[in-house]
Amino acid sequence: MRFRLINGRLMLQKYFSEDSRRISQITAIPLPPLNPLFQFNPELQRLLSGKQLLLDDLPYPLDEIQTHYENGYITFRKGIDYDGKKPFCARCGNKDPQWFATYPCARCGETCLYCRHCIMMGRISECTPLIGWNGPVPDIKMPTDIMNWQGTLSQGQLEASKRVADAILQNKEWLIWAVCGAGKTEVLFAGIEAGLAANKRLCIATPRTDVVLELTPRLKAAFPQIEIASLYGGSKDRHLFAPLTIATTHQLLRFYHAFDAIILDEVDAFPYTVEESLQHAANQARKPESAMVYLTATPNPKWQKECLSGKRAFTTIPARFHRHPLPVPEFAWCGNWQKQLQRNKLPPGILQWVKERIKNGKQALIFFPHIPLMEKALPIFRNLASNIEAVHAEDPDRKEKVQKMRSRQIPLLLTTTILERGVTFPNIDVAVVGAEDTIFTESALVQIAGRAGRSKDHPDGVVIFFHYGKTEAMLKARKQIMTMNREGVKRGLIDV
Ligand SMILES: [Zn+2]
Ligand SMILES: [Zn+2]
Repeated sequence: MRFRLINGRLMLQKYFSEDSRRISQITAIPLPPLNPLFQFNPELQRLLSGKQLLLDDLPYPLDEIQTHYENGYITFRKGIDYDGKKPFCARCGNKDPQWFATYPCARCGETCLYCRHCIMMGRISECTPLIGWNGPVPDIKMPTDIMNWQGTLSQGQLEASKRVADAILQNKEWLIWAVCGAGKTEVLFAGIEAGLAANKRLCIATPRTDVVLELTPRLKAAFPQIEIASLYGGSKDRHLFAPLTIATTHQLLRFYHAFDAIILDEVDAFPYTVEESLQHAANQARKPESAMVYLTATPNPKWQKECLSGKRAFTTIPARFHRHPLPVPEFAWCGNWQKQLQRNKLPPGILQWVKERIKNGKQALIFFPHIPLMEKALPIFRNLASNIEAVHAEDPDRKEKVQKMRSRQIPLLLTTTILERGVTFPNIDVAVVGAEDTIFTESALVQIAGRAGRSKDHPDGVVIFFHYGKTEAMLKARKQIMTMNREGVKRGLIDV
């Protein structure tokens, strides 16, 4: 795609002509004044409001897009821009030279630089404009009964819930630091209701598709009369303009100044570098005047420090809704377990622990740092019970195995960190084999420990970290759990 500047207007040109340029070569992109008499296309309005899309995403002829632009309704931004000589991607924020490449581009007839980092959302190159909407926002009629939820909140949830509502209404930034099993979804309901009643456009974003799929029916049940867009790779709601959106953080890359409030769930779920681009996506998707609510069970060390030094506004929910303390991990030294595993053996302490669980009919999850180690250990465990299973991220039978565990058909499930969050089994003990491995960060260990004791009928669970040398992460994870328990007791949220 190329442009020509004619009388202070950009002309979209499909084909190469001598004085046409790529959008990255145009210094200032003019925006014609909004013509209030112009009959805009309401479908285009719904599709583009609060978005930044590519021409390929718009099923309309170029002429129509051009007319909307000339009447001030459509904006263009550079997909790839330059900071001095350094390129950056305006959509995903990528500025790492490694993540750029060039190709002979048929659209502009030149060698075109493109961003590899966000290519799964369609290619952004030097000739790609990001197209946005500058006209009025579509009207949304709010029903009088917004929420239909009869549940009750624990005292800890209630306090956090008020903070969320306040942040959404006052355009504040707030962190909710809620322990695993605190019931954080319900904490959002009052804030969502208040925000919708104030005609705000809201979004819940989370890194994982699983969570979008799990949250969607729960929110549809709580807000039955509200249209909810559920967005993940390949979802059919892609073009729906809704007052409430539930999206993977990747899908936020298509939004621009769209939301009055974004609730960002599980901000810690990915390594920092990934997190950075997701933060960029969230920052672009929110309006300049808007609220941001972060939800996490395990803020990263930087955020924890900011909380403690008063730089970051936050509220904790230190206790689970069932008012029992979080299980505190035990540490058990198990020697050089990897060396033993090479000889097809496991440390006696680990075997003993597993035998006890099998004997007492108590289910357990056993976490391993790496797939090959886990697979080496599986036959040894199967000597104790033949129906023990192992699961990892690429396992095609992942769902079936988790289901078998849930229906108590198997006594023990070996797993990599894939099950560290999100999955809930009512009554299990949890072990980590090789807790010293660097894959087990403080946050991963807190999440893993958080799998135990979640149901009110079985609030206790044993958590044990088998290790070949204690790490800082292990100590910090245990400390974080104990601190939360202490705070829960102090605030009267845990029964002692
Ligand atoms: Zn990009
Ligand atoms: Zn090009």
